[in-house]
Amino acid sequence: NPVQRHKPDWIRVKAPTSREYAETRQIVRDHKLHTVCEEAACPNIGECWAKRHATMMIMGEVCTRACSFCNVATGKPGRLDPFEPTNVAQAVARLGLKHVVVTSVDRDDLEDGGAAHFAATIRAIREAAPGTTVEVLTPDFLRKEGALEVVVEARPDVFNHNLETVPRLYGPVRPGARYFHSLRLLDRVKALDPTIFTKSGIMVGLGESRDEVLQVMDDLRSAEVDFMTIGQYLQPTPKHHPIERFVTPEEFKEYERRAFGKGFLMVSAAPLTRSSYHADADFERLRAA
Ligand code: SF4
Ligand code: SF4
Repeated sequence: NPVQRHKPDWIRVKAPTSREYAETRQIVRDHKLHTVCEEAACPNIGECWAKRHATMMIMGEVCTRACSFCNVATGKPGRLDPFEPTNVAQAVARLGLKHVVVTSVDRDDLEDGGAAHFAATIRAIREAAPGTTVEVLTPDFLRKEGALEVVVEARPDVFNHNLETVPRLYGPVRPGARYFHSLRLLDRVKALDPTIFTKSGIMVGLGESRDEVLQVMDDLRSAEVDFMTIGQYLQPTPKHHPIERFVTPEEFKEYERRAFGKGFLMVSAAPLTRSSYHADADFERLRAA
């Protein structure tokens, strides 16, 4: 893909070298944790890990879905580790995180889609690290009746579920998911517990138009979603969905301005924005406001 070969300047990042980065890495290794930071080869890892911000991935490394942008392996996942919630919680306490993001692979193979495991992880973190705010980034729980309620009852501070792209591109980008199901999921979280902040995000550069992005913003606001993230899609390997183009920093600024104008409380729109990027600092700011 010729687009992929010419990465613009604003996409390049420094290799991680700091001592704090090395310490975070050590704790992640000691607890045998899976992080999105590593699995997704996230370009922000040097910066985030130096600040002790990491996104934990629970319920294994094998996913039952096969999204074309994602580097996680597809297949039949193994059994859940009953000690995982405590293990993750202890690592969170050791890392001294202010804010943690907990996410997972999709577990269509489990009756509850992994909802009880998510809830147990939230509760274990509350116990081990009472000062840490908890953000969950969940699967869509498609056809998992009652699953969402179980996660909401555990009362995360932020409930994040990404729409990932505009509805027209769901077929090639997010097969197995449904745009309006995901939107409704976010809407239901707010209805079940209005004290939980809701959040969602999309990637751009996949072939979407500007109008389609603005429409997603309106859809999210109609579901009363509070926070939105928009970042440049980067192709993990040549087998993944091609990059259609690099969205310029100016266009991101414009998206950010439009999103705030539509009433989001928090917006992060920049080339290297990821769903969990700066989630710690942003949340801190919001609570202080
Ligand atoms: Fe990890 Fe998220 Fe930071 Fe990337 S942006 S390094 S996934 S915490
Ligand atoms: Fe990757 Fe999540 Fe899609 Fe699974 S559901 S393939 S982990 S993006």
